[in-house]
Amino acid sequence: MKTQDYIDREKTYLANNYHPLPVILKKGKGCWVWDIEGNKYLDFLSAYSAVSAGHLNKRIQKALIRQLKTLGVPSRAFHTDQLGAFAEKLCLLTQMDKMCPMNTGAEAVETAIKAARRWGYRYKNIPKNKAKILVSAGNFHGRTTTIVGFSSEDLYRQDFGPFDGGFKSIPYGDIDALERAITPDVCAYITEPMQGESGIIIPPKGWLKTVQEICKKNNVLLILDEVQTGMGRTGKDFAFQHEIDRPDGLILGKALGGGVYPVSAFLAHNELMSVFEPGSHGSTFGGNPIAAAIGLKSLDILKDEKLSERSAELGNYLKNEIKAINSPYITDIRGAGLWIGIDIDPKKTTAREICSQLQHKGILCKETHEVTVRIAPPLTISKKEIDWALEQLKSILI
Ligand SMILES: *Cc1c(COP(=O)(O)O)cnc(C)c1O
Repeated sequence: MKTQDYIDREKTYLANNYHPLPVILKKGKGCWVWDIEGNKYLDFLSAYSAVSAGHLNKRIQKALIRQLKTLGVPSRAFHTDQLGAFAEKLCLLTQMDKMCPMNTGAEAVETAIKAARRWGYRYKNIPKNKAKILVSAGNFHGRTTTIVGFSSEDLYRQDFGPFDGGFKSIPYGDIDALERAITPDVCAYITEPMQGESGIIIPPKGWLKTVQEICKKNNVLLILDEVQTGMGRTGKDFAFQHEIDRPDGLILGKALGGGVYPVSAFLAHNELMSVFEPGSHGSTFGGNPIAAAIGLKSLDILKDEKLSERSAELGNYLKNEIKAINSPYITDIRGAGLWIGIDIDPKKTTAREICSQLQHKGILCKETHEVTVRIAPPLTISKKEIDWALEQLKSILI
């Protein structure tokens, strides 16, 4: 079968909810992936940051195989010898008190929403069914009906209603808007500390710190979605660490699964997590021994391989070198760590066209919206690999 045959078969049998680049991948190792024609590509997307530790990281692979030979999915009806160690390490690393394991990012966001509302009724005495949650314009928190209901992106929500409400969107990075939006019925502000799908949007310096002060003053929970920014992506273990000690709630996913398995978590302080009693929430696969073994190993790798430090240092280097290209196609370059958004002048070409040209140069990345090329390589990437990528970027951007 040839590349086009694979594409045609997918077209016949798959829902049309993605628009992939026309490449059929069959192998991955470290920062590289190979297609069925034998072409090799540097992965500049890392599965939207899920593969921060590199493709088939040896230590992840070993942990997975070891656990696969021992115990798979017994459900949370029973304790296991794996989950506690993962929870302990994650709580110590984030400085949060407790964690609730889930599988996908969206499920962890749903967990946060449930916890925040219950906290609103039980600790803030918000009248029954009146709890309101503030969210940021341009947010991305996943694809469940509740979550797309408070998205500001029409593509994500069109004809998926009715949406039940309980959310209010405020401009991102805007302190005054937050203050104005807080009413006695607001239980939480759920936001990304830096926005990913929106196009790598970095809020003004000091914003998050002030947000926390305002939330504290008004008895509003600050819950951060770090599904994409967490695990070293922005140059710190977690993006909140650029500005604050810890939020009230923290949502993790993607890279927590070591690039091989869905592992997500909602973390909170004791009071917030105390709203869950047995039976009130759960997940059949959440926190299973395979997920726990992989989650624990991904945290070990984050620390042992100094992924956050690498991200900060190499990210700065890459961003500055891209700026130095002085490309006529580029209108803006932003980023934190190895997480860079490049805006392409829509009068000249599209971000998708740039991604397509990069594919032919041996680099895979993906546009987000029409104008932004997102760069997010595995955090294990070497300076030599970055320099090679810069040569390719230069060859199409000058
Ligand atoms: C990817 C993402 C999610 C959703 O994660 P899924 O595993 O796809 O459900 C939620 N929040 C943010 C910030 C994300 O980037």
